[in-house]
Amino acid sequence: MSRIAQNLQAVISTIVASEHEAGRAPGAVRLLAVSKTFGPEAVLEAVQAGQRAFGENYLQEGVDKIRALAAATPTPDQALEWHFIGPIQSNKTRPIAEHFDWVHTVEREKIALRLNEQRPAGLAPLSICIQVNISGEASKSGAAPDEVLALARAVAALPRLRLRGLMAIPEPEDDVAKQRAAFRRVRELYEELRAQGLPLDTLSMGMSGDMRAAVLEGATIVRVGSAIFGARSYAATTQ
Ligand SMILES: *Cc1c(COP(=O)(O)O)cnc(C)c1O
Repeated sequence: MSRIAQNLQAVISTIVASEHEAGRAPGAVRLLAVSKTFGPEAVLEAVQAGQRAFGENYLQEGVDKIRALAAATPTPDQALEWHFIGPIQSNKTRPIAEHFDWVHTVEREKIALRLNEQRPAGLAPLSICIQVNISGEASKSGAAPDEVLALARAVAALPRLRLRGLMAIPEPEDDVAKQRAAFRRVRELYEELRAQGLPLDTLSMGMSGDMRAAVLEGATIVRVGSAIFGARSYAATTQ
């Protein structure tokens, strides 16, 4: 078995054990394999090991990989699902709308309007998570919690988008109790939005270092990179 296949199996075991520990149904949590900085051959190894959903942060790199992998997955039941999880520049929304199935990092209405306008008619509505900033001034990314309801209502009203839920990247934290406290705040916000009648089904939170805490606090998608593909080298992408 390849190293990536072994790592995938270990990550899936952690997710299954955490679902069980939390008293959640098996399969309640989906694994998004974050393949940024790794080439199409690494993604292909993960595909051959059964993984279908991949997350990318850098637009050109992601689009190149989607094209490279399209030929590798010719039948509909094998179709890969691509999630954009990086910061979005407003002049770069079109390729996101044209190539991806999900976007996790919508934090302003202007971006949502552009994605809605640019989503091709032949494709299903683009699934959207609103990124929420629960770390306050320590983070520049994400909508402030008190802006999320208005933004969620705006996204829900756009026909070419499908509002799915919230995404968060808490500050890295070694202490599991503190990891859980941060994820709990995201879940509480999610539940408030649902109580307001928004039809949300997705809480995108948890990465390699904190996926157990995220699953214990209700994550429905964990975004895991290095635990699957290994340590990243940014040399190629920072030039
Ligand atoms: C890189 C990245 C991940 C994966 O991080 P790991 O620590 O490698 O698991 C998850 N989410 C986002 C938004 C990322 O940029």
